[in-house]
Amino acid sequence: MNDKTTPRDLVREGKLFIDGEWVAGADGKTLPDYNPATGELFATIHQAARSDAQRAVDAAHRVKDEWADMLVSKRAEILLASADALAAMVDDVRDVLIEESGSTVPKAMFEVMSGIDLLRSAAGDARHIFGETLPHSAQGQFGFTIRRPLGVIAGIAPFNAPFWLAMKKVVLALAAGNTFVLKPSEETPMTGLKIAELFERGGLPAGVLNVVPGPADVVGDVLMRDPRVRMLTFTGSTRVGRQLAVEAARQMKKVTLEMGGKNPLIVLRDADLDYAVRAACFGIFFHQGQVCMANSRIIVEAPVYDAFAETFVARAKTYKVGDPRDPATVVGPLIRRTQCGVIDGHVQDAVDKGARLLLGGTHHENFYAPTILADVTPQMRIYEEESFGPVTSLIRVADAEEALRVANDTAYGLSSGIITNDLQKAFSLAMRIEAGMVHINDTTVTDEPHVPFGGTKMSGMGREGGRYSMEEMTELKWITVQMGQRQFPF
Ligand code: NAD
Repeated sequence: MNDKTTPRDLVREGKLFIDGEWVAGADGKTLPDYNPATGELFATIHQAARSDAQRAVDAAHRVKDEWADMLVSKRAEILLASADALAAMVDDVRDVLIEESGSTVPKAMFEVMSGIDLLRSAAGDARHIFGETLPHSAQGQFGFTIRRPLGVIAGIAPFNAPFWLAMKKVVLALAAGNTFVLKPSEETPMTGLKIAELFERGGLPAGVLNVVPGPADVVGDVLMRDPRVRMLTFTGSTRVGRQLAVEAARQMKKVTLEMGGKNPLIVLRDADLDYAVRAACFGIFFHQGQVCMANSRIIVEAPVYDAFAETFVARAKTYKVGDPRDPATVVGPLIRRTQCGVIDGHVQDAVDKGARLLLGGTHHENFYAPTILADVTPQMRIYEEESFGPVTSLIRVADAEEALRVANDTAYGLSSGIITNDLQKAFSLAMRIEAGMVHINDTTVTDEPHVPFGGTKMSGMGREGGRYSMEEMTELKWITVQMGQRQFPF
């Protein structure tokens, strides 16, 4: 590298990872992968053909018993070695996240460091897959349950937190003794390939993990139709997740679906407004609002509504929009230029129907300005539809009960937050909010390796994280032993 060479000058090449080898796609196709902040070519990605996806499933199926039967101490050792491998790749993976998906430095670092934490945590989880003993009615009968790996699991991942979200699927599936085929998002294939690289460095046997970037319909079709794939773990939009769930039902595959959200942050009248604003800002402007858990609806009790709005706008105004590599940047680029049109449409529709645009509503190329709409009502599209950008809606309510009604007035049910010091009220709301996750005195955006992450209603089904993933990714089996001879009725 000469003095003038920067990471941006390097065009990377991403090959498929099948059966422990880095290979080109069978039909020789490649696609350009662009940096969303600069528009420059970041990488050239080989595309999986149908036969490549099939070979990935073949490999995962071939080694599934060997991996399932490996001593848990050895499996844990490989997970820990992979954590060390990732620790040595921190700068590289961080740079890929910045260059490929427009992540700011803190967001990229969150994904990488959480990945290390997850690998270490999963090495412990692998030793904690428990069954139970059961009482029985037959004399001398002893019964118990065991959990067995499912076999081959397929993972389909989104673009927004492409490393962390794909890692949660891969790492916990492997820890539970399954083999895996990952299809990363077409927007972030190189990030998916970094997962293969870290496991290769960690000494994972060939075939246990396969990563196949390629056309969603081609790769997805193979993964969905092959009966040897016993489970699909999907994170992405509700539209695609529902389609895949229908196909999975045809094949009787298990599914976990982590899908969209329109997450409420409730601010009650006693809240510390400065704190509430900081939580709200993080919850909508982190990664430009391209977060399933983003607080895209902020429901504020009337007595503090105007003061909250004023402080919120004043803070959001100070955020720098631009180059994600610049440490001062808070809001980087949207990964898709077309998303700006979607957001413009939501803003215009809301304004036409009486909302007040307090801030933003503009973009330069694919950099969308922090945007705050006030007085949003159910008639506006933005009340219900995901904008997946740095735009949020303020909704005024009379009291905590109305806040609850508005919070639940959505098809989604992923995350939620309640900012208050009145814990009685907070608990009462937390019990009744229709969401998989409720955070009291916190933003809606939070996740860790061991927690039960997931939603209800149109946000999905199943949970991801630690032992909750282990339960989803194993089959429960009931075994009985008859000691002595049982008496049969005839
Ligand atoms: P998307 O649904 O467009 O794509 C997700 C993945 O599905 C990609 O890998 C894509 O290639 C694949 N896909 C698309 N069509 C397919 C098909 N026919 N067969 C097989 N695979 C197919 O979602 P996106 O735009 O990448 O991500 C944004 C969405 O994801 C938002 O709705 C967001 O809320 C949601 N999301 C949810 C969570 C969660 O944990 N609940 C986390 C992150 C993102």
